[in-house]
Amino acid sequence: DHVANQIAAGEVVQRPASVVKELLENSIDAGSSIIKLIVKDGGKTLIQVVDDGKGMSVTDARLSFERHATSKIKSAQDLFNLHTKGFRGEALASIAAIAHVDMQTRREEDEVGTQLKIEGSNVVAQEVTVTPKGTSISVKNLFFNIPARRNFLKSDQVELRHITDEFHRVALAHPEIGFSFYNNGSEHFNLKSESFRQRIVHIFGSKINERLVPLEEETEVLKINGFVIKPEFAKKSRGEQFFFVNGRFIKSSYLHHAVVAAFEGLMRAEMRPAYFIKLEVDPATIDINIHPTKTEVKFDDEHTLYALLKSTVKHSLGQFNV
Ligand code: ADP
Ligand code: MG
Repeated sequence: DHVANQIAAGEVVQRPASVVKELLENSIDAGSSIIKLIVKDGGKTLIQVVDDGKGMSVTDARLSFERHATSKIKSAQDLFNLHTKGFRGEALASIAAIAHVDMQTRREEDEVGTQLKIEGSNVVAQEVTVTPKGTSISVKNLFFNIPARRNFLKSDQVELRHITDEFHRVALAHPEIGFSFYNNGSEHFNLKSESFRQRIVHIFGSKINERLVPLEEETEVLKINGFVIKPEFAKKSRGEQFFFVNGRFIKSSYLHHAVVAAFEGLMRAEMRPAYFIKLEVDPATIDINIHPTKTEVKFDDEHTLYALLKSTVKHSLGQFNV
């Protein structure tokens, strides 16, 4: 019902950047190879994501806006075996409850596609349309029906900053996917499918290339790869700190500490290490279901993880200095 939708929406959607994250993740789940993000006015007026993924049938397009109707979780066991990013089946329903949404979608096997218009959870138009394979979702006038939330949004510039952070996280998590990003009609990024190193360089600038120290480790329980920034380029400010677990950006003060510990003695105490670290673990050994926005993860065996990460970083820094 509409009230439940609006309440749940407040949890999933805090600001335009939350919509960006959910739409981009859906496009990735749909197997897209090129994804375009278009925003206007810090996402307050428009957030549009266009992908070339598998698209949806008419029925699935309609169902996609119904809470839990499409959830990929069929049993409690599935919670521990997630291979896709979405799993709650509530992002689109939540977004549709608090914005004007237009969707165009077509599957490869269908000759024509579907166009849907949804306003505050109601389908107000459904048409057959000619559209490329894939899905385009436009989210307009976010929080149009919750003035308190709309007024709470920060300046366009600040909201754009949050969107850009989200874009960076997703684009770094998936360098194999091409991403473009337009704000108020101007192109901010146009990233082709590339390596992780190239993706970092294209996002943060060519100077970073020679500062990257590669990490590589593989054990029975864990695969680590990515880069740390050489200690002499550490900054006092927060800098670039990225952990990805099984392709998903996460925040972890615990893992951060493991990296800090590895840098001990190599930089002054007030400096902060910068890093781009990807961890692959058995999905059965992690729990990403502890927060609606899914940026936190609980690991079964975090002590082992900590020790392995610390020694890998330490070893790589040592190797590099020889
Ligand atoms: P979840 O991702 O948790 O399943 P969402 O509300 O984000 O829930 O999306 C609902 C469903 O709509 C998805 O499970 C998927 O089947 C479909 N869907 C959403 N976005 C896309 C897309 N870009 N391409 C294809 N299918 C999509
Ligand atoms: Mg989703």
